[in-house]
Amino acid sequence: THMHPDHMGLAGYLAPLFGVEVWASLSDWTYGRMLALDGGEAFMDVHVDFFHRAGLTGPDMDLVYERGNSYAKRAMAPPPSFHRLIGGHRLAIGGQNWRLIEGNGHSPEHISLYNPERNILISGDQVLPKISPIVSVWPQEPKADPLTQFMASLDSFADIPDDVFVLPSHGLPFKGLKTRLAQLRTHHDQRLDDTRTATQTPATVMEVLRVLFPKASDPNDVLFACTETIAHLHRLMTLGEIKWEAGPDGLDRYLKT
Ligand SMILES: [Zn+2]
Repeated sequence: THMHPDHMGLAGYLAPLFGVEVWASLSDWTYGRMLALDGGEAFMDVHVDFFHRAGLTGPDMDLVYERGNSYAKRAMAPPPSFHRLIGGHRLAIGGQNWRLIEGNGHSPEHISLYNPERNILISGDQVLPKISPIVSVWPQEPKADPLTQFMASLDSFADIPDDVFVLPSHGLPFKGLKTRLAQLRTHHDQRLDDTRTATQTPATVMEVLRVLFPKASDPNDVLFACTETIAHLHRLMTLGEIKWEAGPDGLDRYLKT
């Protein structure tokens, strides 16, 4: 379904072992391969600059250095050749037809698979039963607006029946797709409201993070919360509700327009 280490991380090991091809979207194969093979110093430079401007300090910033290229540490590069999957196309597996659904915002070009005949949806990470899939801005694309893409992607599941049997990549299978899609929308709408509240006066990413994720204290949690906070800020910028400015201390600040 996508390039995250807990999904595609062993593809480069398993494909040659079993003599099979990897089938994936072009963006996710490319992105996974790029991250796994990126060993340059520039990688760290953009990460340090990105998290510094967000306001990370102390142990949180130490973790940025410690992690380094954590993708390359945890995942093997996917094989040098692959078979491309494209959203909207159909795929026959074992005599069954599956419709490929592209999703954005969680990974670059996530692919879910829907079988109308058997009414089964392999949702991957795009729709999960308990947790909301992480929607992050990363240093490789610091001005990205993945939350707008993610919200739009939820509409791609609109014509699938509510009683579809959903097979997510984390947690248990479930029914009630439309309810879950509505919950995900509400979740992000509430976070956006909190983001509006936090940017009534100029605020750094870390200051907004403390409003959105008051319990985040472990550096690993803070780092991921930071990337999600920026995603919510960028969505509000796209909506024209807040603007960005560089502070005299070198930190980014966001405030209402
Ligand atoms: Zn994922």
